[in-house]
Amino acid sequence: MRSAEVVIVGAGIAGASLAYSLVQRGCTDVIIVEKEDAPGYHTSGRSAAVLSQLDVDEIFMKLSIMSTPFFFSPPEGFADVPLVHPNGILVVGQGAPFKFMRGVARLSRRLGIDSQEWSPEETVKKLPALERDFIDGGVFITKDGALDVHALLWGFLNGAKRGGARLELNAEVTGIHLENRKVRGVTTHAGDIACERVVNAAGAWANPMAVLAGAKPLPLTPCRRHIIVTQPRDDFPIGDWPLTMDTSRHFYFRPESGGILASPMDQEPMEPCDARTDEVQVARAADFLTRFTPKIAPKTITNQWAGLRTIAADKAPVVGEDPEVKGFFWCAGQAGHGMETSPALGEIAADLLLEGNTHRFPPEIIAPGRFHRGRLSWPSIIARRTAFFLSWLARPTRV
Ligand SMILES: Cc1cc2nc3c(=O)[nH]c(=O)nc-3n(C[C@H](O)[C@H](O)[C@H](O)COP(=O)(O)OP(=O)(O)OC[C@H]3O[C@@H](n4cnc5c(N)ncnc54)[C@H](O)[C@@H]3O)c2cc1C
Repeated sequence: MRSAEVVIVGAGIAGASLAYSLVQRGCTDVIIVEKEDAPGYHTSGRSAAVLSQLDVDEIFMKLSIMSTPFFFSPPEGFADVPLVHPNGILVVGQGAPFKFMRGVARLSRRLGIDSQEWSPEETVKKLPALERDFIDGGVFITKDGALDVHALLWGFLNGAKRGGARLELNAEVTGIHLENRKVRGVTTHAGDIACERVVNAAGAWANPMAVLAGAKPLPLTPCRRHIIVTQPRDDFPIGDWPLTMDTSRHFYFRPESGGILASPMDQEPMEPCDARTDEVQVARAADFLTRFTPKIAPKTITNQWAGLRTIAADKAPVVGEDPEVKGFFWCAGQAGHGMETSPALGEIAADLLLEGNTHRFPPEIIAPGRFHRGRLSWPSIIARRTAFFLSWLARPTRV
């Protein structure tokens, strides 16, 4: 039987970034097993490819801020194209939701996120597809932008492979061998592999993977989100616009291949699957563009897809060893942030896997054990997260 020090299940961004960090630390006897015939086939290949450090969720905000330096200056040889096109992110909207986001942006300046506040007129001047009547202004986040997710995913995978990691495709994991609740190996469609550590980077399939290991499933819910790409009706000139998010109507759009990419920001819980599009959500996305940005109203929809964002009940990622099955390690629940947080989460996961602890981030906030023994109560979650945020505000160092 083949063997490895670590088997990572899933060649999405979570598995790839962890494999890369492990190899960088000298843990090179790593096999990444992927059930599909290509890495990134599921959620990682279906994202909107946005780096957005500004977020209402302080945990993902911190992880994105920690990751951003990597995108701007990746290690030598990581990718032969830039990982980020830093043309900013524009937040618009009306009424209370917009005021709230403007407040979040003001607060997050203290945490190192540069932003500018624009009047409605200024906003329409900078992004002429918008309508003055539908916005109270704009908040422009200057250092965010569009990620090259293909370069990012393959940068991690190729870096891991160069360091000795092996990638096996068409190798679905169908069993996990245990001895006294300790991992001893896995069964895959490509044969068995003996190992003492298995990483659950299976995305939407994180809970089915836990069941294979005899671990308790966690409150993780795959939620479908749609994206469409349209060709506008009129010849309105599309500039190098930032991704623009309308906080009061809940949709976003950005230029894509001469057209417009847009999402209705839907979030429908589903069983893990190869997510297909639903015509109602596709129509909603097109309708948002038609009503609120009529100058770029769609003539045709040239592409559409859906993917599953896997979200934990307390909205934080799940990274760390399972409290009941030794050697079974979770790396899941990246929700809508897996791309922009991958450099930091890869490093944190590698710390926890190799050393059992990390100095980069409070491990208890992301530990799978937070859901065990009835610990998932809202007062305790709020207390934990408030303490995290206040200590970060008190020492707002960029990492
Ligand atoms: C529409 C949409 C827009 C998004 N936009 C953004 C964005 O702008 N910015 C951002 O940062 N994030 C975004 N995200 C979120 C981001 O894409 C995810 O957080 C990230 O891709 C999750 O990566 P993953 O590796 O956990 O999952 P996946 O990419 O799904 O990888 C899991 C892998 O595990 C494999 N697997 C499962 N079970 C098995 C098994 N038994 N054996 C072997 N392999 C198995 C699967 O085939 C899959 O390839 C978006 C997501 C969606 C859907």
